[in-house]
Amino acid sequence: MPAALTFEGVEKVFADGTDALAGLDFRLDHGTFTAVVGPSGGGKSTLLRLAAGLLAPTAGQVIRTLATPGPGAIGYVFQDPTLMPWADVRTNVRLPLKLTRVPRREADARVADALALVGLDAFADRYPLQLSGGMRMRVAIARALVTEPSLLLLDEPFAALDEITRFRLNDELLRLWQLRRCTVLFVTHSVGEAVYLAERILVLSPRPGRIVADIAVALPQPRSAALRTSRPFEDLSAAVSRALVEAIQA
Ligand code: ADP
Ligand code: MG
Repeated sequence: MPAALTFEGVEKVFADGTDALAGLDFRLDHGTFTAVVGPSGGGKSTLLRLAAGLLAPTAGQVIRTLATPGPGAIGYVFQDPTLMPWADVRTNVRLPLKLTRVPRREADARVADALALVGLDAFADRYPLQLSGGMRMRVAIARALVTEPSLLLLDEPFAALDEITRFRLNDELLRLWQLRRCTVLFVTHSVGEAVYLAERILVLSPRPGRIVADIAVALPQPRSAALRTSRPFEDLSAAVSRALVEAIQA
């Protein structure tokens, strides 16, 4: 089976000469959960935009082989929830279905499903300003899932949240992934978050970003709170941190 996403010799130099990414080669198998960690400004968001096809590489190629191609095949969650403040939760989550012209009745059913999935069924009539930061991020996740994407891209989605909320959303995201089995690419600057969530971690160097380590995370599923303080978790976190520090000092 071909990989869900393949980067072959991908480079990105912006028009102003900024060298963001250099020679990225990796493939993501269908249904896998991969995290990308790297220093700020190292090209992580650029990598995600290339994965989504929002940007074109200046060299190499990005190949997507999605189970259900077409509009809605890719879900994108930004660091900021980017909700429409004047629209209620239901309308925010319905937006991608409106853009892909899904009939209203079907759209309503799918919006209800997505909101139930993130535990916000009781909040469909609320407005973004009436919600906590964690709830707003749940809305953004429901909006990304409503088209049932086969590739889910997340760009530091929980970075602005307090640790308790972040841990809770980590577990929710893993539950959603088990349920939907889409291919997930999750960008974070938090080593602990990467180790907790992912089956595999790609460590990016400072700009121009290269992959300096590709680390398999062999920890038991489903994850549990106790794992965060276990020896294997700490050893893996140390290995990822070491790769990061070496890349920064190189
Ligand atoms: P990260 O997400 O890891 O913090 P980014 O991918 O956002 O890094 O950015 C990588 C580098 O590319 C940064 O130096 C950033 O300023 C630069 N960059 C990002 N987008 C553009 C753009 N559209 N034009 C020029 N430079 C950009
Ligand atoms: Mg970024």
